[in-house]
Amino acid sequence: MADVTSDDTGLFDRAASLVGGSAQRNVPLAPFTTYRVGGHAAVLVRPTSFADLAAVAAAREATGLPVLAVGRGSNMLVADRGFAGLAVTLADLPAVGAGGEMFGDVEDTSHGVVVTVSGAASLPSLARRLASSGIVGFEWAVGIPGSIGGAVKMNAGGHGSDMAAVLVDATVVSIASGAGALVVARDDLGLAFRSSGVGDDDLVVSVRLALRRGEPAPALERISEIVRWRREHQPGGQNCGSVFVNPVPGEVSAGSLIDAIGLRGTRIGDAWVSEKHANFIQAAPHARSADVLAVIEHVRAAVAAETGYVLRSEVRLVGFGEDGR
Ligand SMILES: Cc1cc2nc3c(=O)[nH]c(=O)nc-3n(C[C@H](O)[C@H](O)[C@H](O)COP(=O)(O)OP(=O)(O)OC[C@H]3O[C@@H](n4cnc5c(N)ncnc54)[C@H](O)[C@@H]3O)c2cc1C
Repeated sequence: MADVTSDDTGLFDRAASLVGGSAQRNVPLAPFTTYRVGGHAAVLVRPTSFADLAAVAAAREATGLPVLAVGRGSNMLVADRGFAGLAVTLADLPAVGAGGEMFGDVEDTSHGVVVTVSGAASLPSLARRLASSGIVGFEWAVGIPGSIGGAVKMNAGGHGSDMAAVLVDATVVSIASGAGALVVARDDLGLAFRSSGVGDDDLVVSVRLALRRGEPAPALERISEIVRWRREHQPGGQNCGSVFVNPVPGEVSAGSLIDAIGLRGTRIGDAWVSEKHANFIQAAPHARSADVLAVIEHVRAAVAAETGYVLRSEVRLVGFGEDGR
């Protein structure tokens, strides 16, 4: 693919060279997302140390290019023209636990345990590992295919819990300020329903979670139940989970509104409203992200016209510019 704006080629080259060996030019972002559509990152950085993150901060400062944290891409739609900036994945940063384990210190407290977890840890794997180790209270996260960092940013949740309920604090590297790693308490993260105050230049590199010691067997049984429920109620394939936030949490669901006006199966190009779950929008292999965005906009407009509810999409749109946000 050509650069997002060919005029910026020199800027992208400069940013990549300032970052050094952990940067690559023109890397497809689709394989980093569950939608598996969209264009290239002008620069993709895979930091392996905090010094690499400092180099990203220096490159951002010198070039003014935007930064995009890429977790497991399960809540992200990348534009067909790609992302004209520095995309950063934390997957290669050393894990917090010994031997590459995704969780490290487990500290006993009067209420339970506090566990330190890597920002790149996958929620489903972490939920299973913790439960098998006799640490409970994170089973709800097994069906959410994101990373810990992305889950903090989105305040991910389900099955009666969310990140806000289990977070103690997050260690955040602010790329914009170049200020190094800061520990931010849960109450200062601006966590709200499926959103947070974590900025685009803030990288969550690790968190501490408040959980409990418990028996592995019932926790693993709960995990199996949740996985069964998800298989029964949610489609597989290329999607990013629920697209719209429920307009009145606990009372009016986005899915029921979309369903009520008969939009299941509505298709534009190679993207369509899932037949199985009306708040999921699916993409076919080789779809254009423009098709997915067109379905999102169509659904939003139709629901507003017919029900009066203006749905808010929780999907992070990347590279679409003002019109797509
Ligand atoms: C099948 C399916 C089911 C889902 N079910 C649920 C559900 O039940 N509940 C729910 O809440 N969500 C659900 N989701 C959505 C998604 O999994 C969550 O929002 C998840 O927390 C996103 O994490 P991620 O690492 O994939 O983030 P990404 O998609 O990579 O990024 C999302 C946002 O977080 C930012 N980000 C990513 N990593 C970091 C980091 N380390 N530091 C700072 N910012 C970061 C990105 O820049 C972006 O703004 C589902 C998705 C799918 C595909």
